[in-house]
Amino acid sequence: MSQPGLILGPDETGLTVFIEGDRIRETRNSKTAQGAGTSGAQAVDCTGGRIQPGFVNSHTHVYSGLAPFDMPAPAMAPENFVQILERVWWPLDEALDEAALRASAEFYLANALLYGTTSLVDHHESPNFIDGSLDVIADVASQLGIRAVIAYGATERNRGRDEAAEGMRECRRFVRENRRPLVRGMVGVHASFTVSDETLREVGDVCRELDVPLHIHVAEDMADVVDAQARGYLDPWDRLRRLNVAPAGSILAHCVHTSAESVRAIDEAGLWIVQNPRSNRGNGVGYPRSIRESKRVALGTDGYPAYMKEERAVLALDAAEHGERSEAVDGRLDAGRKLMGEIFDADFDLAPGSMADLIVVEGDRVRHVVVGGRLVVAEGKLTSADMEYIRTRAEAEASRLWSRLEQRR
Ligand SMILES: [Zn+2]
Repeated sequence: MSQPGLILGPDETGLTVFIEGDRIRETRNSKTAQGAGTSGAQAVDCTGGRIQPGFVNSHTHVYSGLAPFDMPAPAMAPENFVQILERVWWPLDEALDEAALRASAEFYLANALLYGTTSLVDHHESPNFIDGSLDVIADVASQLGIRAVIAYGATERNRGRDEAAEGMRECRRFVRENRRPLVRGMVGVHASFTVSDETLREVGDVCRELDVPLHIHVAEDMADVVDAQARGYLDPWDRLRRLNVAPAGSILAHCVHTSAESVRAIDEAGLWIVQNPRSNRGNGVGYPRSIRESKRVALGTDGYPAYMKEERAVLALDAAEHGERSEAVDGRLDAGRKLMGEIFDADFDLAPGSMADLIVVEGDRVRHVVVGGRLVVAEGKLTSADMEYIRTRAEAEASRLWSRLEQRR
């Protein structure tokens, strides 16, 4: 893939970054850096700004992208985590069709780029539109120019084992067919408590067959732990381990109610844990105290907008409230770049040879965003799409989606 190079800078520190193709070719520190030998490259003014690696959102749900458009509250307010799923998010994902999913993905991913998030890991479910759903998200990500790792979360909650098989089939189809440079596929499961042992064993087989890791919610609420124990396991991790489901590199979202011993075992097995502070607060599921036992913990927004500075601020607040030293939670955002590095087999640092996923910030403002060497936000505006058009379409699809949602209730 050939594309003209970019020259970012010099920024306020004197740093200039030379980009060729999708990589950083060279960095120079000088107030007078010149673009010698880079004829044809596009110069991007970074005066007064600072060049830094883009943010990574390591666990989210693009399908909830229309929720900010006045999503109607359920008739009966949920009183616990499982009721939040049953009354809010599951009716929403059941009401999704192709047009609503596309509009959700466009609005969510466009805003992610404007927040300086250059990569994200999505966990998708739309039980009445499974086949082809991952292509919708992948196409929107490619068009907008954001890096994405996507999976369909297999579940048995509506139509039993047939539904789980459809979810696995979608992951397998996508991983085999996908050729988009910015997108990778994983195998997904909603959570241990919505699937049988038979499905989990098959999921492990699919991971090994495709040589890709698993993305699953683990012990987000005690309900998941109680379920695993009722099935004869110590906890959901013990279930995944004994059924040989989650290879190294797999992503376990939450692990709020996971023992220190299990967290150490997860770390030793080379899996990732993703903490989602705003979601954990919002759902009242508790604070994941034990996850500090792992060195591989990244940060996610779990369906909240991909605004990583806000997520990090809530993380700091949460940590302080729970008597945690700030060092214990520092590095969660850097870990996200290491996670991307494993998946894309590249570095995501501000250094020669690294993937050119960079942002230029000026105070609180994200001024420019580059993903895989492509300038996708310039002077705070998307270059890859028309934000007003995306917003208008999202509003129209949201009102259609809310009327289908009301009909289901
Ligand atoms: Zn989630």
